[in-house]
Amino acid sequence: MDVPITIDLISDTSTRPSAGMWEAMARAEVGDEQRGEDPSVNRLCEHVAEMLGTEAAVFLPSGIMSNLIAILVHCRPGDEVLSAANAHIISSEGAGAAAIAGVLNTTIDTPDGRFSIGDVEARIRPRGLRVPRTRLIAIEQTSNKGGGTIWPLSEIAGIARIAADADVAMHMDGARLLNAAVESGVEAGLFAQHFDSLWIDLSKGLGCPVGSVLAGSRAFIDEAWVWKHRLGGAMRQSGVLAAAGLYALEHHVKRLADDHANARRLAAGLGEIDGLRLVGERVETNIVFMDCMGTGLTVPQIVARLSQFGVRVGGVSDKVFRAVTHHDVSSRDIETTINAFGAVLTGSNHAKGAAP
Ligand SMILES: *Cc1c(COP(=O)(O)O)cnc(C)c1O
Repeated sequence: MDVPITIDLISDTSTRPSAGMWEAMARAEVGDEQRGEDPSVNRLCEHVAEMLGTEAAVFLPSGIMSNLIAILVHCRPGDEVLSAANAHIISSEGAGAAAIAGVLNTTIDTPDGRFSIGDVEARIRPRGLRVPRTRLIAIEQTSNKGGGTIWPLSEIAGIARIAADADVAMHMDGARLLNAAVESGVEAGLFAQHFDSLWIDLSKGLGCPVGSVLAGSRAFIDEAWVWKHRLGGAMRQSGVLAAAGLYALEHHVKRLADDHANARRLAAGLGEIDGLRLVGERVETNIVFMDCMGTGLTVPQIVARLSQFGVRVGGVSDKVFRAVTHHDVSSRDIETTINAFGAVLTGSNHAKGAAP
């Protein structure tokens, strides 16, 4: 029998609008966004630009489009983009940077998604007729495949200095920038000041159904608008979506700390089960990777059995799965999840102090 999934840890994209968010969407003032006439979209863009300390911002349908447009604006075909090998732009965007922007993606192997000033120094190429022009450094805050790891401000500042000296632009994939800000206590704007462009996702931890906001200088955003239109990302009464974003920025930011506490509790609880091991040193934000090699079961087997408890995690490989906490997962759900793993892997209840 198929049990409906009630605890969905496959991604922080799996949130549904909260009651308050639906209400804000229903009441949204709207207009034609493509003509710059949607008041809710305009308000959202002003709000994000102010929060990040940039001159301007533009509302886009997805984070993938934000990354692609940033690359298109900064680079010309043949230019080189440096990023982590496990960055979303490399692994999960259909190679849009190559297919549409025509750039050369050079990657840095780094399991936790962070690279160093030295890594960058070693890769920025001298200018010359025969060499690709290193044009952009893309940093993912937090690193998704790195396990939700936070880039420290000092490392970003150091890389930005090297980049500025070499006339290389800085771009942040800030899908989870606000997770990093809440967890580290460093305001988003302090991270943002080191970048020529950056964006936040509304449809991850913030819990909105759709959307991202790309920010930068006025000149950058003007160019971004050209590409937004060209790629079919210029929308009409998208204030319905922007209203969700405004609601989330008011109500769903501080609570990201709860997601982080839930993720840490999940990792601790699962770590007590024989054969399960946390990948990486510790849980920094809302993403948990676990290795199940020692359990004698593969990830697909575990996923199938967990589904009987209404719990879903994401398979990354045969031996590693990912669990992501978010707005629609409560601390009680975490205990239920730990219990479900206990039942699946040992036939016993492993959660200490779990709710009955
Ligand atoms: C989800 C995600 C994206 C893409 O965002 P969408 O809004 O789903 O297009 C880009 N980068 C990272 C790090 C992500 O986690």
